[in-house]
Amino acid sequence: MNPIYIIGMGPGKEEMVTGEALCALEQADVIVGYTVYLNLLPARFQGKELLSTPMRQEKERCERCFREAGKGKRVALICSGDAGIYGMASLMYEIGKDYPDIELMVIPGITAASSGAAVLGAPINHDFCVISLSDLLTPWETIERRLRAAAEGDFVIVLYNPSSHKRKDYLKRACDILLCSIDGARVCGYVENIGREGTKAEICTLTELREREVNMFTTVFIGNAGTEIIDGKLVTKRGYHVNRT
Ligand code: SAH
Repeated sequence: MNPIYIIGMGPGKEEMVTGEALCALEQADVIVGYTVYLNLLPARFQGKELLSTPMRQEKERCERCFREAGKGKRVALICSGDAGIYGMASLMYEIGKDYPDIELMVIPGITAASSGAAVLGAPINHDFCVISLSDLLTPWETIERRLRAAAEGDFVIVLYNPSSHKRKDYLKRACDILLCSIDGARVCGYVENIGREGTKAEICTLTELREREVNMFTTVFIGNAGTEIIDGKLVTKRGYHVNRT
């Protein structure tokens, strides 16, 4: 039986898809994914058998991969960014318990924390943590606890899923929790549509961030106590002593 490739496609454009991912896609007979990501596939893969499933039907999407692989096809499941970071990789392993003959191969991709950081400058160049504000699968109390702990630990914080149609005020709620222990002047930034048309980056303070409306295609960065703005870029220092003359 062929293995199933679980592929991280990066933030959007083909230049940000890894060579290993492109190789696996070239060899695939069928590519499975959420419709939006199938549409982002480079043109030369559009001729393959493409199976799309709507958002929220993740379990069906995974089952489908195993069924297609069971027929002897070479299956690639695509996710945005990295498939192992708020992606489908873990669910595939869970569902894969029922399909012990089918091996899974995860191919890493550039996650939004990495690609967004590159747009802003170098905000995650020291200890950082990544927190999703989506409470679809995680209780909000857990998210709050992690926000408090990250602030307490002076981590740079990267927020995924900062907003959706149903969760318009979640970024504000998160900022309120962070403001309990972080000064309002703390430097922050956010990037919308990384690696896609209409990329937009903003740098602001934590107090200002609280008032900003962001959409679901945005990744948010909150600096640590030492993060600075250098030449308009968000920079978290490593601790080197730099002598200026
Ligand atoms: N597996 C993906 C994350 C999926 S969760 C990855 O590794 O990047 C979805 C969240 O990721 C979005 O709400 C947003 O916060 C972030 N994200 C993913 N792609 C993005 C992009 N192109 N631009 C900005 N944020 C993005």
